[in-house]
Amino acid sequence: MPTLLVTHKDCIAHEPGRGHPEAPGRLSAILDIFKEPEFAGVLRQEAPLGREADIALVHDPAFVSAVLAAVPAAGHAALDADTILSPGSGTAALRAVGAVTTAVDAVIAGRASNAFCAVRPPGHHAEPTLAMGFCLFNSIAIAARHAQAAHGLKRVAIVDFDVHHGNGTQTVVESDPSLFFASSHQYPLYPGTGAAGETGLGNVVNAPLSAGSDGRVFRRAFETRILPALDAFAPELLLVSAGFDAHRADPLAGLELEESDFAWVTARLMEAATRHCGGKLVSVLEGGYDLRALAGSAAAHLSALMGKA
Ligand SMILES: [Zn+2]
Repeated sequence: MPTLLVTHKDCIAHEPGRGHPEAPGRLSAILDIFKEPEFAGVLRQEAPLGREADIALVHDPAFVSAVLAAVPAAGHAALDADTILSPGSGTAALRAVGAVTTAVDAVIAGRASNAFCAVRPPGHHAEPTLAMGFCLFNSIAIAARHAQAAHGLKRVAIVDFDVHHGNGTQTVVESDPSLFFASSHQYPLYPGTGAAGETGLGNVVNAPLSAGSDGRVFRRAFETRILPALDAFAPELLLVSAGFDAHRADPLAGLELEESDFAWVTARLMEAATRHCGGKLVSVLEGGYDLRALAGSAAAHLSALMGKA
């Protein structure tokens, strides 16, 4: 079965403004590299608009309405100092949600072996009633809830290797034993959460990494903490918040990962998915702000998902 790539050009039309790191060129750079011949075997699908009923599995409907109502007809509107809306932002965020639910449906139905959603804005900082950190709706948490609501899954795991802690995702998971969340991230760093002592009901694993940590430290955190806990949870579906801002070239953080580390972690997560759930894995783009490093890392990730790592 092929690897599925879900994306939509509307996700390029979210424009937080000149100089903002979460720029439209991020997705263009990724989609350009995905045109390379090595990715010819990928099944490609356009993301539909996310459904309100799915978003409401995570977010207060009044919050969703308020975010969409804040989208300006022209110019920009700021939800906070980092989280800026342009006229295309609401549609982009809805496409991001539609991408992950579509990918979950395809992987669970067996139409694809696994999937990557190349979408923006990112989602893992979004809390049930708060947009923050460039994120509007928490696409990965919505994917988990959708898998449970639409497909009856009992145990869904989310692993997040973005350099920032996925605070919004943790908020959704930490009081629900049917979900699992593990994160590697630079610490301390924005958003300030993600200490090792934050363990939820025993279903949350945080692996904080000091600035300057390289691939060896990152791999050890996965081998000793995250992968064993993931195995113990034994998910029926593995979701991945794939941020590539732990790359050494990234301007927003100070970890020292390379493209080969992203290929490595992708392969280990695929092995875990194979052990527990027939390989069912859905990954969604989060951060990554050096365009060259981002494109190369996303290519390493997609290539690994295709089984080439
Ligand atoms: Zn990030």
